[in-house]
Amino acid sequence: MTNLLHDSSWLDFEKMHVWHPYAPMEGALHSYPVKHARGVQLTLEDGRALIDGMSSWWSAIHGYNHPVLNRAASEQLDKMAHVMFGGLTHRPAAELAARLVRLTPEPLERVFLCDSGSVSVEVAIKMAIQYWQAQGHASKQRLLTIRRGYHGDTCGAMAACDPDTGMHHIFNRVLAKHFFAEAPTVVNDAEWQDSEIAGFRELIEVHHTEIAAVILEPIVQGAGGMRFYAPEYLRQVRALCDAHEVLLIADEIATGFGRTGTLFACEQAGIVPDIMCLGKALTGGYMTLAAVLTTAEISRTISTRTPHAFMHGPTFMANPLACAVANASIDLLLDSPWQERIAAMSGAFARQLAPCRDWQGVTDVRIKGGIGVVELERPVNMARITERFVDKGVWIRPFGKLVYVMPPYIISAPDLDTLLTALTESVAEELAAG
Ligand SMILES: *Cc1c(COP(=O)(O)O)cnc(C)c1O
Repeated sequence: MTNLLHDSSWLDFEKMHVWHPYAPMEGALHSYPVKHARGVQLTLEDGRALIDGMSSWWSAIHGYNHPVLNRAASEQLDKMAHVMFGGLTHRPAAELAARLVRLTPEPLERVFLCDSGSVSVEVAIKMAIQYWQAQGHASKQRLLTIRRGYHGDTCGAMAACDPDTGMHHIFNRVLAKHFFAEAPTVVNDAEWQDSEIAGFRELIEVHHTEIAAVILEPIVQGAGGMRFYAPEYLRQVRALCDAHEVLLIADEIATGFGRTGTLFACEQAGIVPDIMCLGKALTGGYMTLAAVLTTAEISRTISTRTPHAFMHGPTFMANPLACAVANASIDLLLDSPWQERIAAMSGAFARQLAPCRDWQGVTDVRIKGGIGVVELERPVNMARITERFVDKGVWIRPFGKLVYVMPPYIISAPDLDTLLTALTESVAEELAAG
């Protein structure tokens, strides 16, 4: 390949022509060009090295450029990058299904492999609807969820995101209308009060004949506000779903693979969903891949009634390259002391972030497993605080009032210290700057 763009001007071209997530094109904000990445370090084109606090949005749990994952990718590449999954199959997909069935709680044992988290949410919603349809409950097509959630950017997934932060009014005519209960507010089971679930209970009692499934992010609400809630809420939701013939979809796309301290967040409530979505860390941040797991009962019901098939099938379904890397990533995780690593992160957050709670301008500090969140009174100045972070040699990407980190699990104690020191110093400077 020869470069079309000149070394000195490719970035100008990029800025003019390439969209970035949730950003204007004719943009005020510029993006920092990464030349290469290894371990927890991102190296910019100008040679500056940044300690990564974001794991590229929950995904790069083993860090970057990992020799084991590289080998898995290149060995699979020598065999084939991709083949269609219609009528063909391959060992990497079977191996991945075997791992996911083994890791997730019973009775989740049927696996749909798709391209991205958002698509897996679409698949989960369609599965729930088709399940009830197959049983003659065609009216069960709506979802019940909680506010402040995030489930992805495609239209089906978006319809279940928080109506305000998800900007439902803009897409009013294309988004399905679902039921929204207030998000739970208590974090510990010890503080549990029945009023937490009252609104949710009323919605499911009144509307269950229209509701196919409840969808929510267990324990941690991610991109909708980085909020944590009590496991008791999930137990109550599970019981209400059972009582009212409603399926439970657990969106573990962000929480899966250890981030909250257990392999899956559902484990903290001791509940099992009927459908579970996994993504993000599934391939250790190498490739886009997601999985939807469900029970034999649901897959059987869908498969034995008209139209005798589940109506979904993306072009890149079960991409072998992504499956091979996912298998290597899961093995790498399970062979690592990931619980201790998450606990060490929690400890460092408690030591270094928790003191910010007392600062003027900070409304809350929240810590859960490998997630540390500092919530401010006012939204940060993104360009300015990002520059502060980069100047201090770290990569942290706040949104709104939330400055948060979820570093790769492999981060060393000194790097974590540097990351958190840079975080608190930059927040202090921002608050002082006003
Ligand atoms: C990121 C995320 C999604 C969407 O995944 P994409 O791969 O970005 O489509 C869905 N649900 C949750 C909880 C997520 O964190």
